[in-house]
Amino acid sequence: MPLFDQHLHSWHSFDCEEAPEQSVRAAIEQGLAGMTFTDHFDTHPTEWPLCRYDYDLLQEAIAALRDKYGDQLFIGHGIEICYQPERMDFILDYLNSHTFDVVLLSVHWFGGRALHVRDHWAGLSPRTGTEAYLRTVLEAAEFAGTFVRDGQRMFDILGHLDLVKRYTQRFFGEADITPFSGLIDEILSASLAADLIPEINASTWRQGLDEPSPADWVVQRYAAMGGRCMSIGSDAHSAEHIGAGLREAATLLLENGIPAIAIFRNRQRELLPLP
Ligand SMILES: [Zn+2]
Ligand SMILES: [Zn+2]
Repeated sequence: MPLFDQHLHSWHSFDCEEAPEQSVRAAIEQGLAGMTFTDHFDTHPTEWPLCRYDYDLLQEAIAALRDKYGDQLFIGHGIEICYQPERMDFILDYLNSHTFDVVLLSVHWFGGRALHVRDHWAGLSPRTGTEAYLRTVLEAAEFAGTFVRDGQRMFDILGHLDLVKRYTQRFFGEADITPFSGLIDEILSASLAADLIPEINASTWRQGLDEPSPADWVVQRYAAMGGRCMSIGSDAHSAEHIGAGLREAATLLLENGIPAIAIFRNRQRELLPLP
């Protein structure tokens, strides 16, 4: 099965200390056909000073890795944009002035709260927090849709669309997205309209949940709406997790009506049919 890890981090992300070369070696050991670095681009005023995304440095590192390992697998230069409604002009300028293999759009903040900061959950229950998060994901997908004209896109992949469950699990011991299936449908439908490919993010399997983000029932709904492919990614923050869960994610796609994975090179989408 030709697998691409299309969501992973290196020391070019504030929360990761892994050398890109270690990750490439791990991907080769895993037998991956490709891997794309999607380091964090975080523009919230409290996170921007910590942001390590340096386009030229990353470009240089990837060029050297391609020289050394490019005959063994595809090595992509991507970016994980953190959706920040107040900062989109700056983000769009950045995207327009650089070239990427893939642009991931992810929601890590909702209504001025950071998903990953326990104190920011003050006054929220798992249920109200989940709903607020998913509404922001819907807003992000709709925002992406405003750029789709003449087959152009500003964003390629919608990252971990129900990642909120990782944090309701961590902070409250529960993770239930099923009451919000209507909102999930709206997100999937906005993604289809925006030509934004949802990913299956395998990281929640490593963090105490028994499902990826999103789960099988979401894949079924996406297939029923006409979705034909999704992206898969480990969201690895260390070399040992490169490729983790991708085989399981690909099998889950196939079993729930999605026959191909979407991969991106130079922003061009190709479909890799699953056997
Ligand atoms: Zn993310
Ligand atoms: Zn990530």
